Amino acid sequence: MGMGRKKKKKTTKRKLALPQLPMQQQLNLRHEGTHFDLREIFDDLNRRHFRKRLRGYNVEWGRRRKHRPREQFVFGTIQEEDRLIRINPALDQPFVPLWFLRYVMYHEMLHSVVPDEILPGNRRRVHTEEFNRRERKFPDYRRARRWEDENLSKFLR
Ligand SMILES: [Zn+2]
Repeated sequence: MGMGRKKKKKTTKRKLALPQLPMQQQLNLRHEGTHFDLREIFDDLNRRHFRKRLRGYNVEWGRRRKHRPREQFVFGTIQEEDRLIRINPALDQPFVPLWFLRYVMYHEMLHSVVPDEILPGNRRRVHTEEFNRRERKFPDYRRARRWEDENLSKFLR
């Protein structure tokens, strides 16, 4: 991810989000990356694997960071109360396979249908047995995990 490109893209996005566009439309641009459209991916997975059960969700690329993280790279997050899934914009790169991005999205979507477990001490377990079982059912699960292992260093400093 080159710095110049990042800056250029940011500027372009700002220019695209002109004030004459209604706010809703400005927000809706956030699912479009340079290489991948998160909306398309979400809608397809929702149809294929969730019987369109996820309703009213927004999907967007997160904010770009100046530096790659040193230790932990977060591929995606879900805020269920806001019905929002955010994907790390470092994944919007040509070397990232579509099936990997789909796996990341699937993982976040799965959180919205598999309940968390409350552990003693009020701690929460989000990756429950049930979650892991269903995650493994994803058709590209194995190669996605392997790709993650092999490529994680590219997303870290
Ligand atoms: Zn998770």
